[in-house]
Amino acid sequence: MKTKLGLLYGGKSAEHKVSMQTAMAVLKALDLNKFDIYPIYISEEGTWINGPQLTAPAETIKELEYKPESGQVSMDTALTLRDSGDHQGFDVIFPLLHGPNGEDGTVQGMLELMNLPYVGNGVLASSAGMDKVIMKNIFAQAGLPQVAYVWFIRSGWEKDREASYEKVESEIGYPCFVKPANLGSSVGISKCTSREELEAAFVEAFQFDRKIIVEQGVNAREIELGVLGNDEPQCSVAGEIVPKTEFYDYKAKYEDGDTAMVIPAELDEETYNSLKEQAITAFKSLDCSGLVRADFFLTEEGDIYINEVNTMPGFTPFSMFPLLWKHTGVEYPELIEKLVQYGVERYEEKQ
Ligand code: ADP
Ligand code: MG
Ligand code: MG
Repeated sequence: MKTKLGLLYGGKSAEHKVSMQTAMAVLKALDLNKFDIYPIYISEEGTWINGPQLTAPAETIKELEYKPESGQVSMDTALTLRDSGDHQGFDVIFPLLHGPNGEDGTVQGMLELMNLPYVGNGVLASSAGMDKVIMKNIFAQAGLPQVAYVWFIRSGWEKDREASYEKVESEIGYPCFVKPANLGSSVGISKCTSREELEAAFVEAFQFDRKIIVEQGVNAREIELGVLGNDEPQCSVAGEIVPKTEFYDYKAKYEDGDTAMVIPAELDEETYNSLKEQAITAFKSLDCSGLVRADFFLTEEGDIYINEVNTMPGFTPFSMFPLLWKHTGVEYPELIEKLVQYGVERYEEKQ
């Protein structure tokens, strides 16, 4: 029996295009002797459209951008396998969505309600991982070292802006990073070295979220590890991001393609072991499942600070997470099959 897999991609988000590229790559890597593949496309406007069962990988992204005329449906209908003869429906859904409305637990919640097995993190890990304040509070509880941080709600800042800035200056100081709490891809993030920049950064970040976080800025290497599994997660080799810009901003991530990735990162064994242990602690502290990419800062003095985890990291064959696993001995097609298997196992365990 082949696995009936619903590939959920696109999405009403800034990361729509990335998701399309990922969908192309995943489709190409899936073995059609093992999987019946059904595309479920979410347009940039947020409409859900079922595509026909795929009998060959798509040649172009256009082919995967189904038009509403070809079967726009409600979300729950999109997730119900139609024309399905005598079987129950999808065996598993693979959500290839990043950021809000995809990586933040909302889609995962719908899949739970529909009683569908799915790949990757559940509702709690996804939503806690999307909110940088909640994530950091949980990491603190788990004893993971982090840079100092404070956070603000828009209405509080609007009532007394001066007090907000003073709090940052007394508790964090400069340089600091101002970030919307619930985003990714470096959107809305600024580095500040003065009061003037801080004020502009608050305005900018509050355009994207009602909650923001301000962190102490560190001068450090950026090291990332892949974690894979459910109850007994495994770690990949470490990789290093070497941005050519001031920091790893949106442009460096998606436009320049100029950022170098060094895999494996040059690290002594003790540092790598410590990173591995902390990546697993982070995974367990958020009760993750399937996968996570854990991102760290490593200072010249050898201090490690966890920066964040990403519960649905970039997943094209050229993204950090799949490359980390390739260097660890798990090729892209095998990685995808493992993730599907972890998703199904997690579902079965809950029954
Ligand atoms: P996102 O979830 O959008 O990737 P991050 O918190 O990872 O947000 O921040 C994006 C980038 O900004 C990081 O990869 C790093 O280059 C830089 N950065 C973020 N926070 C800090 C910090 N506290 N100190 C130094 N650099 C930082
Ligand atoms: Mg992130
Ligand atoms: Mg990041």
